[in-house]
Amino acid sequence: MKYISTRGGVAPKSFEDVILTGLAPDGGLFVPDQLPQFSHSEISSWKDLSYQELALKVMSPFVDGAIPQVELKRLIEKSYASFRHSEIAPLVKTGKNEWILELFHGPTLAFKDFALQFLGNLLDYTLEKRQEKVVIMGATSGDTGSAAIEGCRRCDNIDIFILHPYQRVSEVQRRQMTTVQADNIHNIAMHGNFDDCQNMVKASFADQLFLPGGRQLAAVNSINWARIMAQIVYYFWGSLRLGGPDQAVSFSVPTGNFGDIFAGYLATKMGLPIKQLVIATNQNDILHRCISENDHTTRPLEQSLAPSMDIMISSNFERLLFDLYDHDGKAIADLMADAKSGDMRLSESVLSTARQLFSSYRCDDKGMVELIRDTYQDHDYLLDPHTAIGLAAARACRADLETPMVTLATAHPAKFPDAVKQAGYPSDPELPSHMADLFEREEKFTVLDNDLLAVQSFISDNITA
Ligand SMILES: *Cc1c(COP(=O)(O)O)cnc(C)c1O
Repeated sequence: MKYISTRGGVAPKSFEDVILTGLAPDGGLFVPDQLPQFSHSEISSWKDLSYQELALKVMSPFVDGAIPQVELKRLIEKSYASFRHSEIAPLVKTGKNEWILELFHGPTLAFKDFALQFLGNLLDYTLEKRQEKVVIMGATSGDTGSAAIEGCRRCDNIDIFILHPYQRVSEVQRRQMTTVQADNIHNIAMHGNFDDCQNMVKASFADQLFLPGGRQLAAVNSINWARIMAQIVYYFWGSLRLGGPDQAVSFSVPTGNFGDIFAGYLATKMGLPIKQLVIATNQNDILHRCISENDHTTRPLEQSLAPSMDIMISSNFERLLFDLYDHDGKAIADLMADAKSGDMRLSESVLSTARQLFSSYRCDDKGMVELIRDTYQDHDYLLDPHTAIGLAAARACRADLETPMVTLATAHPAKFPDAVKQAGYPSDPELPSHMADLFEREEKFTVLDNDLLAVQSFISDNITA
């Protein structure tokens, strides 16, 4: 399988080359040139597989021999061995045909672990084989950073630099990143918001001459194809638990960078019957405005109680548009130029195709806090703020009550005590036992200005691998 850029200006690349880089040189994102197709009977035959066995089935065609099957199987098993639930992604019922898919049983308590524990192992395996080293540089609104650090802390061939917006991630999120003591882990708290951090990373990828010795940057943000690939698996998993593929299932996804929900889109394209995909946003609602009113104008970013969704420009939306515009790289390059100047408009036909599958909803802090409170009172179930937004959207958008509606639970509530306490929960929600001493651990991070030279010289001075 070959990988191509969404802007059409790059020769096709191999799986290995794509996972070891970031954006394509033309500014686009890498996507497979064609998707694997699974028949109804093949999907049906996967009902009794374990999560790890299912992951091997779904991901193998994308890896396409770049890694021998036994090695891939071993990497998958290693990646999910640190999850604390035997089902890896259990379902919990919260109403009639209404389900929560808990994706927070990994080591850092957010769904990011599904892709990033695997990506760490995948990169380490590939770098060892090629006798290469890379520098990972990534921006985080909170959860990517800790999952990436956890996934890479034991990788000899990787230095990892994670930028988080200074004082804009929750204390649990920050401590999960800054208390990992390993020489190859570097935390930068940058003045600014998440988009500023992301722009800093983008600028550095575009010109990598600041790195010593010809080192290259690799990405752990969801622009890295391997992350999307690993997230496709749990759509199949959730569906198979609820009568799929005979029964179509719907999913509601708390959305920021559009990576998670894009994986769901790919699952449908690969043959999984999905009735609706609901884009759930907080008050930073550009995707909701885009789908509902074709309004993609940027507005100032608002800080919310669901910080992992405080994003204005969703990178992976470009991957969806590339598919909806029939792989027309030129059209996407033009659209992205429009998006940059703040006036992107989708064609009516593309918009109506998108709306056949996607619905969208905006839930602000107030509505979210109310739903956490109600769900705790009525079902004795504590939602994290992102998941609560997903559930609010699921209820507002669902087309019928017969199709199972699954909300992806993207984080554990203990990561976001502020929102949970505003909802009337009497104390800080308890951290799982492996993190009980988080607040006693020593922190290490460096505060830097939003200044390209300062950040880049910090990186070049601190590479250890
Ligand atoms: C990253 C994250 C999201 C957003 O996921 P995207 O793939 O960026 O859309 C939602 N909720 C939580 C808790 C997250 O960590």
